[in-house]
Amino acid sequence: MRSPGVLDVEDVGDPTLPRGGALLRVLACAVCGTDVKMLEKGHRDLTYPRIPGHEVTAEVLESDSDMVAEGAIVQVWPGEACGSCPHCHAGNDNLCPQVRIMGFNADGGMAERISVSDPSRLVPIGDADPVMMTLAEPLACCVNAQEKLRVGDGDSVLVLGGGPMGCLNAFLARRRGARTVMLSEPVLERLDHVPERLFDNVSRPEGDELADMVRQGTNGAGADVIIPCTPNVRLERGLFDLLAPGGRLCVFSGPRHEDSTVEVDLRNVHYRELTVVGSYGNSSRHDRLAVGLLREGADLSWMFTGRFGLDEVRQAFEHASGRRGQRSVIVFD
Ligand SMILES: [Zn+2]
Ligand SMILES: [Zn+2]
Repeated sequence: MRSPGVLDVEDVGDPTLPRGGALLRVLACAVCGTDVKMLEKGHRDLTYPRIPGHEVTAEVLESDSDMVAEGAIVQVWPGEACGSCPHCHAGNDNLCPQVRIMGFNADGGMAERISVSDPSRLVPIGDADPVMMTLAEPLACCVNAQEKLRVGDGDSVLVLGGGPMGCLNAFLARRRGARTVMLSEPVLERLDHVPERLFDNVSRPEGDELADMVRQGTNGAGADVIIPCTPNVRLERGLFDLLAPGGRLCVFSGPRHEDSTVEVDLRNVHYRELTVVGSYGNSSRHDRLAVGLLREGADLSWMFTGRFGLDEVRQAFEHASGRRGQRSVIVFD
């Protein structure tokens, strides 16, 4: 990725084995909404030129560390943090002021070989499918959000946007004991690939359809949790009215510049004890939790509606941006 809109495939030098680190052969790298946004508009954390890709599984070719063995199949946590600041010590290494993120301000996984200097970023996946395990990183973003939202037993959860992040949040909310999971999605054909049991209620965002669904789905109580998984929703007043007393909302999808300043009724927040939290990416702890969840035998292979070779990277991005399918992944031989 050279500049907004410019993406090419070319030969680059192979990375070398870093001291104390590992040299990896990439097996699969998924293309996510953030990659698409980076190509179309740039990103706060992106510097050019850049090899994109932060949802990566790989085989360890060479290792200079006791922590990871040659031949191991691993998922790669995309951050490289300092390990010594208060945020790193507190386990919030995604908030480390010095964190470099693969595919953003360090080269990423849309390459045959990558090197990793900190082997603690490598999470063994055993004999799990390397394509499916590329979901660990986006699922870890959901774990981060749902910990902050305290999603748990009996909650009613409203997901906005039925793309991969919406589906992964629904999957996780069910795992965490949510009673009802509702979805608002304008393009209903997008759900053709999605198992019916994932969402209890589905509506389009038009007119009163969404408010009617939440009322019916919660017996008039409102949603305990709202997770916006698309930048195409303004987080404004009407949305807060869909929350139950004590309700929680996460600023999960990065809002567009023009949508980042909104009016919020603080009397509504005060009297009904509403919570608004932010989440961005995931910590290495969230990442390991996500690998564990996927290794418990979750079948999410239906999410991979597009598989491409590295020379088809443009098609892979087109599939990810099309809002017709779900996950788009680059698979290496
Ligand atoms: Zn992503
Ligand atoms: Zn740090």
